[in-house]
Amino acid sequence: MSGVLAAMLDLALPRECGGCGRPGAQWCARCEDELASPPIALTPRVDPFVPCWALGTYVGARRAAVLALKERNRHDLAAPIGRAVAAALHHLRVYGHVDPPELARLVLIPAPTRARAARSRGGDPVRRFAADAAAALWPEPVSMVPALTMAHGVRDSVGLGAAQRAANISGRIRVRRGAPALELGCGAGSATSVLLIDDVMTTGATAAESVRVLKEFGVPVDGVLVVAAV
Ligand SMILES: [Zn+2]
Repeated sequence: MSGVLAAMLDLALPRECGGCGRPGAQWCARCEDELASPPIALTPRVDPFVPCWALGTYVGARRAAVLALKERNRHDLAAPIGRAVAAALHHLRVYGHVDPPELARLVLIPAPTRARAARSRGGDPVRRFAADAAAALWPEPVSMVPALTMAHGVRDSVGLGAAQRAANISGRIRVRRGAPALELGCGAGSATSVLLIDDVMTTGATAAESVRVLKEFGVPVDGVLVVAAV
């Protein structure tokens, strides 16, 4: 089934909560609360050498919402996930892990998705909720910059261990052409907090390679924030 057809069918179907499956609302207050809990610090097996946080572990409403957005074309769930990411950023600022808006401009860079996977999903789900996170932080000026791409030849990483995941991704993440360092807020003399955003962190291989590639490009990443940690 094409992504467009699936999306149309999905729109025509009665809604249930994308977090807990209860009928009625597309997203219920209980799941909104569950995603709004303070983020947890992570120690991934493949170290990106920057602080990493998750909204929580890959269970419950977080797991259900990520899967529904990615696999069932529940594009409506990008908004609540984006709000939760924005709330997590607020917590990280309160703890002093991320500079407040008056000290540094915030740049959110979505981790890259395999092109084929993004096509079959009718768009890149991570980019979608990163954009909604930026919108949720309004009126603060936040840039969501989809600066990274993943080259062809990257396998679906399900079932791979840490070393295999790192080898699978090594050298395959690139900075998108036309994404100058200035657009990313670096090199202009202004203070910038750059955060890599992703849906799920399993071993940290994608995050580590993304951070490495951005650093090589002249964009130091300050931290990684994901929705759920496996
Ligand atoms: Zn719910």
